[in-house]
Amino acid sequence: MTLTVLMNAGPWLSVPPPGYGGIENVVATLVPELRRLGVRVVLASVESSTLPVDERISVFPDGQFHALQRPYNEVCGVAQAHLHGVVRALHGRDDIDLVHDHVEAAGLATLAAMGPDAPPALHTLHWDLAKHPELYGNLDGGDRVRVNGVSAAQLARAPRALQEHSVGHVHLSTPLAVGADRRPPVAKGEHVVILGRINPGKGQDLGARLARQVGFPLVLAGPVGPYHRPEDLAAAGDEARQNPDVRFFYDHVAPHVDGDLVRWVGTVAGQERDDLVAGARASLFPLRWEEPGGTAVVESLALGTPVVATARGCLPELVEHGRTGLLTGDEEELGELVLAAGLLEEDECRREAAARFTPELMAQRYVELYERVRELAAPS
Ligand code: UDP
Repeated sequence: MTLTVLMNAGPWLSVPPPGYGGIENVVATLVPELRRLGVRVVLASVESSTLPVDERISVFPDGQFHALQRPYNEVCGVAQAHLHGVVRALHGRDDIDLVHDHVEAAGLATLAAMGPDAPPALHTLHWDLAKHPELYGNLDGGDRVRVNGVSAAQLARAPRALQEHSVGHVHLSTPLAVGADRRPPVAKGEHVVILGRINPGKGQDLGARLARQVGFPLVLAGPVGPYHRPEDLAAAGDEARQNPDVRFFYDHVAPHVDGDLVRWVGTVAGQERDDLVAGARASLFPLRWEEPGGTAVVESLALGTPVVATARGCLPELVEHGRTGLLTGDEEELGELVLAAGLLEEDECRREAAARFTPELMAQRYVELYERVRELAAPS
């Protein structure tokens, strides 16, 4: 029997995402592999998504990413409008075997509220949830609604109600891991890279300060709030400071950005991103939050670049200290570890990625979880 899965990627960005995009990247990586395994995928996303699927449901014409800057209740309003549209589109259909939902908060509650006729649902947790138990207060879908984490560390910190509904964790993956062990090595430059949203949790302020103290060239790549290019941020003027990540950038990161030793290049995508990471002597993750999944971490390994990071969240699950990276509990030590990272073998990083972080492995694991969720939902 063919399994039909409604994949809910949410209203924020098209799939695949134009540049930065966490959840949308995961969906864009997972769906082609699921289809290769024979799963029929109905994608609930925005109309501008181009990912090939079997069928699509769209509520908004294009990504509502800009709405994430608005007050929290308005953000939830957009998520709920999307979900209600999806639920309406599903009304009266009985061909959906399972909903795989990726939309925080509103998604799960709405699915739970669909009642006993709704298909069973698996909700993938993408964030560090210890700080947001209120998002998941309503799990009254009972046996029909299950969750999975993107790391064991994330689930261990999740509110109890989520742990009770958990069917396990699935690590993130990257298409770059496919054949990574067979790719020839790339010439390394002197620079170190931090790839990710500019945000206090990602710790670019710490990385930039250490780069100047210890003396290594550092490239910061990623958006500052909704601004992808330095010139867009500059043109936005003072109003941009309403965004907390913009304030963080101006107050704590920009003072270290001298355009020479420490540079912010904005969002990088495609080949430019891969070349930047593959050519780096290390990828630095000076994390101050408990990183839940770390796509950029597995991408770095796949590109043959060792990871230097604070040992937070999923990092110890993804990186083996002394082999594929260097981890520490003492953030002040990161600068010295960056200098030592050159001793690690890039082949080890690429081998690890090819063995553990391919999209095929991730899709196989999700198919197992889909079966488990359906079993648990079946009347006994
Ligand atoms: N990313 C990108 N360009 C950038 C910065 C980030 O393409 O300039 C991508 C990065 O390669 C990764 C994703 O955005 O695929 C970030 O996912 P991750 O899980 O590392 O962090 P999140 O932002 O979801 O917490």
